Amino acid sequence: MSDKKFVILGQEIKKGESAILEVEVAKLHTRNSLSMPVIVERAKLDGPVLLLMGGVHGDETNGVAIVRDIIRKGIHKPKRGTVICIPVFNVFGYLNQRREFPDGRDLNRMFPGDAKGSLAGQFAHKFAKEIAPLADYILDFHTGGASRDNYPNVRVVMSQEKNLELAKVFGAPFIVNSKYIAKSIRDLLNKIGKTVLLFEGGKSLALDDFVIKTGVDGTLNVMRHLKMQSGKVKTRNKPVIIKKSKWIRAPYSGLFQSLVKNGSKVTKKTVIGRISDPYGEFEKEIRAPFDCYIFGLNTAPIVYKGGALYHVSAE
Ligand SMILES: [Zn+2]
Repeated sequence: MSDKKFVILGQEIKKGESAILEVEVAKLHTRNSLSMPVIVERAKLDGPVLLLMGGVHGDETNGVAIVRDIIRKGIHKPKRGTVICIPVFNVFGYLNQRREFPDGRDLNRMFPGDAKGSLAGQFAHKFAKEIAPLADYILDFHTGGASRDNYPNVRVVMSQEKNLELAKVFGAPFIVNSKYIAKSIRDLLNKIGKTVLLFEGGKSLALDDFVIKTGVDGTLNVMRHLKMQSGKVKTRNKPVIIKKSKWIRAPYSGLFQSLVKNGSKVTKKTVIGRISDPYGEFEKEIRAPFDCYIFGLNTAPIVYKGGALYHVSAE
């Protein structure tokens, strides 16, 4: 963006300025109103606009903590360009410590929204109209749903080279090919020509230091790559690229114990878990059906037959 005015939510932010804005989410039936804070930092020098979002699903606390740490460390103050931080996107869900909006809807299936639609639809519409068009790059931080624990990974459509390049720069241990889900934020942002990375790490209602650090370091890498922060991009190891993935499902119902760590590589026929009954009579092994990396793990103690246990690479 050159000398164009930068106006967000009706407020102009000049070069070198910062602001904390509030988006009204809803007037509650208790007469309280609920708003979503948006933190904007604009450098004196022109550059890209980066949007960082956590808590699209209200129970995905790692994402909230990643954006918080980026702010706490001052990484969100760019050397050039603009950073927009939304640490808690779904304020409603976050208050309730639930994935959904209070009307029961998954906010991440509501885009581009509708000004006259449901509560979640109206909120999605406001975002789609007033915030999304301003961003060039978006990092959207998620965790596994329910009891599913994700080893830190970045999801992109690999045929989109710009996205894949940025995912490599981010430097999470895994890059997972993942198509756009209709009406998700990622789908909306892609349709309006934005470059978006979806980060997945850890599980809901948990804080994982390794996941949070991976998210913060990855963001700093992206900002360095875009010349929004000084310094060199630092990635630990080459990320493992997963073009196709699959779930290994429970062959029986019962108590589930994993015998392998999330993030590990296993060879075909390795015993990776056990399912047993509570009486010490029934016990079955789960073996890896092929050589694979495990990047998602169900941490539920009790599983049903057919339930997703391990998210793995598949060729
Ligand atoms: Zn999520």
